[in-house]
Amino acid sequence: MRRRISIFGATGSIGQSTIDLIARDPQTYEVVALTGGQNIALLAAEAIKTGAQVAVTADETRLQDLRDALAGSGVEAAAGRRALIEAASRPADWVMSAIVGAAGLEPGLRALQTGAVLALANKESLVCAGPLIMRTAQAHGTHILPVDSEHSAVFQAMIGEDLAAVERVIITASGGAFRDWPIEDLAKATPAQAATHPNWDMGQRITIDSASMFNKALELIETKEYFGIAPEKIETVVHPESMIHAMVGFNDGALMAHVGAPDMRHAIGFALHYPHRKPLPVERLDLVKLGQMTFREPCEARWPALRLAREVMQAGGLMGAVFNAAKERALDAFIAEAITFPQMAAVVEEVLSDLSTYESHNPAEITLDKVAEADHLARVRADEFMAR
Ligand code: NDP
Ligand code: MG
Repeated sequence: MRRRISIFGATGSIGQSTIDLIARDPQTYEVVALTGGQNIALLAAEAIKTGAQVAVTADETRLQDLRDALAGSGVEAAAGRRALIEAASRPADWVMSAIVGAAGLEPGLRALQTGAVLALANKESLVCAGPLIMRTAQAHGTHILPVDSEHSAVFQAMIGEDLAAVERVIITASGGAFRDWPIEDLAKATPAQAATHPNWDMGQRITIDSASMFNKALELIETKEYFGIAPEKIETVVHPESMIHAMVGFNDGALMAHVGAPDMRHAIGFALHYPHRKPLPVERLDLVKLGQMTFREPCEARWPALRLAREVMQAGGLMGAVFNAAKERALDAFIAEAITFPQMAAVVEEVLSDLSTYESHNPAEITLDKVAEADHLARVRADEFMAR
């Protein structure tokens, strides 16, 4: 029996790397659903190439375009949010969750409810609804495998270890596009400048989030939610070479590091083949050529998102959903050149203090509806602040 695979966000950076791996071994995999957004031509081409059962665009106005692109191929076409959720509910063995933003939460939850293993690139799922998504996996006798490179690294360093022996987790950060800019120049930074990454080739939104360290902020919260590690044990360090993805420090002083080229196929391939290791088409590091690896203290004046992440972790409740939604709106506004780069953090901070009542939500009672409500209100508030 071939392994049944679905990929949500198949036309994105992570989705494309996932298809690259599975397309090398077509005998092993049977593709159930591929989903995308606006890139209809790519979605259709990948669905035909992989012989997918169904291709879904999240945009319901693009159904006819998708039908035209798939004509005669035998691949079913579907469009809209409902169709996306239906496709996520189709039985599969392994599902890649790689939609960007909070929009990725519900499809991932649906996949877990079918009992599929969820390879989770969509960190927003854990930030917005960590207790819900972890509980759903458990209730359906399945599990989540982290695909974010740092979390895959921590996962690998913890294999065979006792969580009680973990003293600290160090999440590395490249520092993104503006690592070495004078802080006073950040107000002049353009979206195009922010969307270039020194080491990783990723989608536009996460690349800008790397420059602001909102990506790292989300990852600190993701670490707490996925591994159940106390916030005070989670650290971050700037590591410009991006060779060490994360380190786990144990109570005997040992630090276990995951070292590899900055290529997401490491983490995707690990999650695809887990619990085994199989050869992957990634660069083998030449350490002598690399020469050195360096580390710096992250400056919170440059990256206030890190401080906000600590506040969110301490607050708990639904503050992760508030934080992420405010960040998504601020990022939309920065991309549209309606606010400056440093204003993104200011907007998020205002929304957090305005909606602090969401702190009081009991994690055991977090539902999709409550997350959606907090998310919606945070977007409304962010827009109000930015309109002032
Ligand atoms: P991209 O922007 O490259 O791709 C996003 C995917 O989601 C595309 O398929 C896009 O479709 C689709 N999409 C966008 N909006 C919606 C929506 N509202 N509903 C349904 N589908 C939608 O993102 P990345 O691949 O970079 O990132 C995906 C996720 O993985 C993010 O959560 C990110 O944080 C995480 N991640 C990414 C890493 C990377 O290296 N890229 C590393 C670690 C984590 P289309 O393009 O057709 O419009
Ligand atoms: Mg990461």
